[in-house]
Amino acid sequence: MTQKKTILSGMRPTGKLHLGHLVGALENWVALQGEYNNYHLIADYHVLTTNLDSSQIYANAIDMTIDWLAAGIDPARSPIFRQSQVKEHTELHLLFSMLITAARLERNPAVKDQVRDLNIENITYGHLGYPVLQAADILLYKGDLVPVGEDQVPHVEIAREIARRFNTQYGGVFPEPEPKLTKFARLPGLDGKRMSKSIGNTILLSDQPDAIQQKMRGAVTDVQKVRKNDPGRPEVCLVFTYHQKFNPGETTEIETGCRSGALGCVECKKRACAKITDALTPFREKRAYFDAHPGEVEEILKDGESRARVRAAATMAEVRTAMKFG
Ligand code: SF4
Repeated sequence: MTQKKTILSGMRPTGKLHLGHLVGALENWVALQGEYNNYHLIADYHVLTTNLDSSQIYANAIDMTIDWLAAGIDPARSPIFRQSQVKEHTELHLLFSMLITAARLERNPAVKDQVRDLNIENITYGHLGYPVLQAADILLYKGDLVPVGEDQVPHVEIAREIARRFNTQYGGVFPEPEPKLTKFARLPGLDGKRMSKSIGNTILLSDQPDAIQQKMRGAVTDVQKVRKNDPGRPEVCLVFTYHQKFNPGETTEIETGCRSGALGCVECKKRACAKITDALTPFREKRAYFDAHPGEVEEILKDGESRARVRAAATMAEVRTAMKFG
């Protein structure tokens, strides 16, 4: 019998999740639950790389856990845990930081993009090294696969390099993790850019139907389709992308109607909105349950954290033996 592979997936707890998280990550995580051993990491220490205010991290971690549970993550099969509650993450991070040069981290394209996007003048040691902490997050659980988008592939490459370097120097303890690319392309935000809370162009998974309706009204469409009867170009319209994801049965008719001018944007948005609202109804119901039972959420975290600690401690024991620390 072949042993199930291990997947480590995680997110930084920065608040309530949006549709982009559902499509780009959570649906994938839920689909992978039976096939793999999954560990779901709440990367709370990682928040500090770009924001030193730690006052909301705990509340955000609880909110994110509720979103994960509502999306269908089964904590009995897939432990959910906070990085800060498993001390081995920082211990392995320290050891790994000896195995990679500063120059290699400075060449990391994902960090370069972040420095540019966030206008960072002087990057901190911790921010530059966050792929090293990420390597520790993955390898502590001997993750074989890491579900990521294209932009995170360079980080997985760094984890692979560190695993190789450790194994060559001290003996084979770690697998070389592979990126597992998410199938559905990134869902655009309401302004057509990447969906992001900091831009304010999101539909939250927890939004009520009237909030979704209001947000959808403001969604940008094809700029060339000004009046209802103008022919439109669905391929440049984010509302059409939403139809493709949430209303696949009607896309042919919508595409024809848009191009011919028979379908106007107001009607088209209403139809997309109805489908998104329907898709999120079971999510909202589950979310409401966990919102009303915070003790249950805390218990789920406690349980996930104690299971993660057992796995992490076993890996660190192997690491110490391999390095002859006794
Ligand atoms: S009709 Fe629909 S797909 Fe076409 S431009 Fe308007 S919103 Fe977009």
